Amino acid sequence: MPQHHEDTGHYQGKIPIFFSDTLAKFNFGQGHPFNLERFAWFMNLLEKAGLSDRLEKHSLVPATVDDLKLVHSDTYLAYIDHLKNINGRLTMDTPVNSNVTEVQSLIVGSGLQAAQLVLDKGGAAHTFGGLHHAGPDYGEGFCLYNDVAVTAKALVERHGQKKIMVFDTDAHQGNGTMDIFYDDPRVLFISIHQDPRTLYPGRGFVHEIGSGEGTGYTVNIPIPPYSSNSQYERALDEIFTPLVKEFEPDVIIRNGGSDPYHGDDLTILGLDYDGLNMVGRKVREAALDGPGACDKQIDMMVSGYGDLVIYGWLALFCGIEGLDDIDYKKLAPTEYRRPGGYTQEKLDDITEEMLVALKKELEEYWNCF
Ligand SMILES: [Zn+2]
Repeated sequence: MPQHHEDTGHYQGKIPIFFSDTLAKFNFGQGHPFNLERFAWFMNLLEKAGLSDRLEKHSLVPATVDDLKLVHSDTYLAYIDHLKNINGRLTMDTPVNSNVTEVQSLIVGSGLQAAQLVLDKGGAAHTFGGLHHAGPDYGEGFCLYNDVAVTAKALVERHGQKKIMVFDTDAHQGNGTMDIFYDDPRVLFISIHQDPRTLYPGRGFVHEIGSGEGTGYTVNIPIPPYSSNSQYERALDEIFTPLVKEFEPDVIIRNGGSDPYHGDDLTILGLDYDGLNMVGRKVREAALDGPGACDKQIDMMVSGYGDLVIYGWLALFCGIEGLDDIDYKKLAPTEYRRPGGYTQEKLDDITEEMLVALKKELEEYWNCF
């Protein structure tokens, strides 16, 4: 069983994180829910948590066109160039200009750098990425280039890794990543997200399980709106953890920020800070600490909407890194849960029904179901 990466001294007790001030130039325009202050706020919060000295900061190298071509078509990339030149937009909420292309290409580059780092040294490396709504020949949902997919593809095609798991915990389903690997059994894509009938991108139903040779290697866990820590924990224990054990990935990439938090502005899920921390810990256990863990994890965290984003990030970050000494809740404003939603009993019933249906879809392909 691999040791805790601090014990093995991969990074001499430091936490590798890919960050540069250029990221804070990310600007979709005034009033856009993807605010650019998040990076500066988060760095301040890490300082308040006493973590500044424990970070091993790496600067970012932009992705090349060849990197982007690992997953995106030539015509799509030419179209992005055209939009950049005219300050156009892919969709209403996804403007394209030289600032957005520069920052998103840095984010893709940081995924590739993180991949190289964990292959060399093991443990977990963090990026501010997770642009999972960009597909082979489309971009939307604030995403131009899919850093999650470029990183996974590079691990397979450039580094000779055989089995990559992408675990997408963003509240929105990772349609771009799913489409890129839909028929590819080398990448097991698992997404837990708010029921697509109630949230963008409206994809990720239990019956979407991949195609061709990739059938069974796409797993969608559509969790009901208002789901709280216990429904999440059950879904992770019954789907994610058994799949990690059976698939035995060489590397796990997790992506997703704080938008499953109950106070997020764009979603209606119900995790609190402890719930986000629990998600982080489950991933840690599967990727770094547990029996048979591959000891190689890339963690990508960029999403979340509203003033509370960074507190959710901190809770997740502490879970992934096993930082039990940090009181992430004390650093956040008092939690306020808006009224409404379903009872826990109702949520348990809907979750049960969903899990039964999902396991039925997958039982032909996996012994654990
Ligand atoms: Zn999201």
